[in-house]
Parts: sequence; C-alpha cells; structure tokens
Amino acid sequence: MHQVKLESVRRNSGGRIHLTPKVPRSGPVTTLCGQTLEAGSFAANDAPPDCANCIRRSRDQARISGAFFAQEEGSELLRLSLEQARERTQSREPDLRVLPHPSEKDKPVVWPAPKPPAEEIPERLGELVTRGFKSSGEGVWRSPVGVIVKMRKHGRDWRFAEVVFEGEIVATRTDRGLRLRAGDVEVAPDEDGFEVRLRKKT
Ligand SMILES: [Zn+2]
Repeated sequence: MHQVKLESVRRNSGGRIHLTPKVPRSGPVTTLCGQTLEAGSFAANDAPPDCANCIRRSRDQARISGAFFAQEEGSELLRLSLEQARERTQSREPDLRVLPHPSEKDKPVVWPAPKPPAEEIPERLGELVTRGFKSSGEGVWRSPVGVIVKMRKHGRDWRFAEVVFEGEIVATRTDRGLRLRAGDVEVAPDEDGFEVRLRKKT
C-alpha cells in the first residue's frame, strides 16, 4: 500500500491553493478542480490546499489515477480526462450528499500497489525451461507447435518424463547421452539429468 502524493499549486496572482498530480516545469497545469493555469502563471506551493473542490476530488481514486495517466499524455488529454471525470463525479454527487461518510472524510487516498499476474509461471521448473510452453494440466506442458512434454514430480523437483509428438523427431547421440529434438522442443542431457526447452530459432 502506498499513499499517492499530490502537489499543491497556486496562481502567482494569489487565490486558492489547488492540487494537481504534478506541477510541470513548463507549460500549463490542470488542477484537480478542473482549472487550467497558463504556463508561467503559477508556482508549486508547499502549503496544504485550500480549494474545497481539489480537496474533495483528492479522495476520488478514479479521478486521480485518470489525472496521473493523462498528465503523461499531455495537458490536453488531462483536460479532457478531468472533464469526463467531473461528469462522472457530478452524476454521483447527489448520493454523496445523501449518504455522507464522515468517518472516511479525512482518510488519505490509499490503494494497493500493483500485483503481479495471478498465474505467474517460474522461468524454470526443475528440468523444464518454461519459456514458450503453455501449461496443459499438472506437469503437462504444450509447445507452440503442439509437442506435449510430461514432467514428473521427484521430491520437490520436476523431472522430464515423456515427450509426445506426432511429427519429426531426431535423436542424436552426444558425449553425454542422447539429445532429442521433437518439433520445436529439445531434450538434452544435463549435469545429472535432462534439460527440456524450446529449440533456439536458427
Ligand atoms: Zn482547485
């Protein structure tokens, strides 16, 4: 979990202190409340914001992530994004008034850090180099051209058990044993077993 930091910005001529994802070094800035301040007319400010709209919108995760994203794309997209976010917020505002959540009012905006994909396959599972293979059940892997590789659990490790392929298979005697090429898969003798991997493209 981390807390998103917004920056305070204020017109050089004075007025409210607004919030924005980042105060740019050049060009215009768009505040969370939707105002675009012209280049050179504003400065970053260390003081806490006192614009009620900015403060309220700083608690809207969708708006802030939208604003962050848009800021990368340029101020015009930021403006459009903020306008869309404002329309969405406006349609929700009656609810907010009817059902205020005073206890949540002063909580900072917090959301989870990015998670890795749910089914991340390790680079290597025992004797199998998984790159390019698709899991096809417990211990069963399928290569891009359809070679089936079966691995067997040996203690905590996976060992090569079987290759099934209806297609060209070449077995070659090597110094250390037999190297098998089946379709796009290569099974080669390794230190004390085998290594199964997709063949390198030549
Ligand atoms: Zn503001």
